[in-house]
Amino acid sequence: MRVLWLSAIACNGNTHSFLNYPYIEQFLNDFEFIYHQVIDSAYSLEDIVLNQIPCDILLIEGAISREFQRADVSVIEIIESYSKIVQKIVTVGTCATFGGIFRESDYENTSGLHFNQEKSLGNFQDILDKTVSLSGCPVHPEVLVNTLYAIKKSVNLKLDNFLRPKEFYAYTVHNGCTRNEYFEYKVDNHKFGELEGCMYYDHGCQAPYTHASCNKILWNEVNSKTRAGLPCMGCTEPKFPKQNLFETKKNMGIPEYLPVGVGKRTYLTLAGITKAFNIQRLQKKLFDD
Ligand code: SF4
Ligand code: SF4
Repeated sequence: MRVLWLSAIACNGNTHSFLNYPYIEQFLNDFEFIYHQVIDSAYSLEDIVLNQIPCDILLIEGAISREFQRADVSVIEIIESYSKIVQKIVTVGTCATFGGIFRESDYENTSGLHFNQEKSLGNFQDILDKTVSLSGCPVHPEVLVNTLYAIKKSVNLKLDNFLRPKEFYAYTVHNGCTRNEYFEYKVDNHKFGELEGCMYYDHGCQAPYTHASCNKILWNEVNSKTRAGLPCMGCTEPKFPKQNLFETKKNMGIPEYLPVGVGKRTYLTLAGITKAFNIQRLQKKLFDD
């Protein structure tokens, strides 16, 4: 399949993440980039924006603004041109999907392709059914590559309300974290990088309300942020980035954001029960004498 990687207002973090895909050589045998800013490709940026080169998938990295140009052409015009000929459009990363950190840029009306945070923009309606959103800052390379293979094999991807494949975004990051036992018993005696403790109660972990599969599909096939001892910062969510990423905002001792599907009353009931436990094993550091 022929793929165009179009970089809009971006830091190229998704490109760097993609370059870490362990089987990239195999991928490049199966897909051909008609243009990518760092991978050898058949056409120059000028060729791409001045012509409509035959192409199957348009990948968009970075936030969108009508003011922002590539080779003197508005990215919106480039997207409009290629969206007419491609089978699928994939927003690669949180900026292309929701606007991300570049909502704060100097370009006017900066947003994702279809969404500004959670708000649907109502634009590009004619290509809505062609779009697949892959949020993440950056997007996990396996999520990107597996989605592209699914498109190549004409798999009918089931999508959520933000057009993200449920296969990767129906779960929360909390699902599969090695610290779940500490979460259950409310133990957050954590120092960054240590093996013990859950980081939800004091250290700002957003995993219980962040939709991604970071603890099911590990990064570099080895680890995840929360397993390594750093809180999830919610990078796949529409409102990313939030502030004060390393502390849990609370009202009257209750975290402001509760796990998906858990009401305040349920949380208080569970918290009351778990307080009754004081499991010494979980209070200890694993490598203490
Ligand atoms: S550290 Fe985060 S992901 Fe891990 S159990 Fe606690 S809340 Fe869940
Ligand atoms: S653990 Fe959280 S912040 Fe880190 S990559 Fe996954 S979703 Fe993003």
